[in-house]
Amino acid sequence: MRQFNVVVLGAGGVGKSALTVRFVRDDFVEHYDPTIEEQYHRPMMVDEELSSLEILDTAGAEQFKSLNEVYIKTGRGFVLVFSLTQEVSLKEVESLRKQIFRIKGSESVPIVVVGTKSDLVSEREVQTSTIESLANRWNLPFYETSAKRNWHINDVFEDLLRQMRDRYPPE
Ligand code: GDP
Ligand code: MG
Repeated sequence: MRQFNVVVLGAGGVGKSALTVRFVRDDFVEHYDPTIEEQYHRPMMVDEELSSLEILDTAGAEQFKSLNEVYIKTGRGFVLVFSLTQEVSLKEVESLRKQIFRIKGSESVPIVVVGTKSDLVSEREVQTSTIESLANRWNLPFYETSAKRNWHINDVFEDLLRQMRDRYPPE
């Protein structure tokens, strides 16, 4: 079975852990320790091929920023997370995208952009049209998710797994 390293990156509090834990354990954790950085493992069947995902849920706090470089070097696929309820968190995605391209020395890197907390309708700050045109300009796939309601979480990892299989074909 082929194995792929995935790194979940984004500003603090945007819902990286909630997204990861929903995908890995199908559970919603209301209060996850924001300083915990953990690697998870999950097999995933897509297009009749079983793969193994090693997912690193990063802490995203300012004091751990220097670690990003190490993670980006070893990661094969990236989930760039922002919160639909916090427009400023989009800036982090923009800068991570640049950082990834710089460190990888290429723009053909498997990436999915994720806007979280789509269930918090009245708190929304980022409109779908805004992020869609941004993602278009970046040429990256984009999903609106809710870890709480389990909306489109699987789609994110399916898309990323397909990209990683294309980018890193078996020897
Ligand atoms: P991280 O710092 O990026 O790992 O963020 P967390 O996963 O710890 O989430 C931060 C806060 O947002 C927590 O209080 C979560 O319960 C909440 N949260 C995360 N995802 C969702 C979601 O999809 N819907 C709602 N309503 N709250 C969420
Ligand atoms: Mg976290």
